[in-house]
Amino acid sequence: MAMDITKGSTRVYIDPNRCIANAKCTTAAPGIYVVDEETGVAVIENANEATVEQLFAGARACPTQAIIIEQFGRRVYPRILTPMFGEARNEATDESD
Ligand code: SF4
Repeated sequence: MAMDITKGSTRVYIDPNRCIANAKCTTAAPGIYVVDEETGVAVIENANEATVEQLFAGARACPTQAIIIEQFGRRVYPRILTPMFGEARNEATDESD
C-alpha cells in the first residue's frame, strides 16, 4: 500500500489532508484504492496491476481532489486544485490599510 506511486510517466499521490475517507475512490476503482483503517486515509494497493484508467477513475470520483495525478512531471488532474477550507493562500494576506 502506498500514497505515492509512479507508473511509467504517470505519478499518483494522495494528499492525506484532503482525504475525508468517504471511499468514493474505492467504489470507482475497487482493489486499487482502499481506505486504510488505521490512518483513515485512502491508499493505493496493487499498484503493479493498476491501470492508468483505474487510477484516473478513482481521482475523478474524489470530491475533495485528494488524488492528484501528474504526467511527465506536470499535474494533469485535477486541472484546478481548489484550496481547502482553512488552507493558507499563497498570495499576500495583509491587504489592510
Ligand atoms: S474519494 Fe477522495 S476523500 Fe474519499 S476516500 Fe478516496 S481519496 Fe479519500
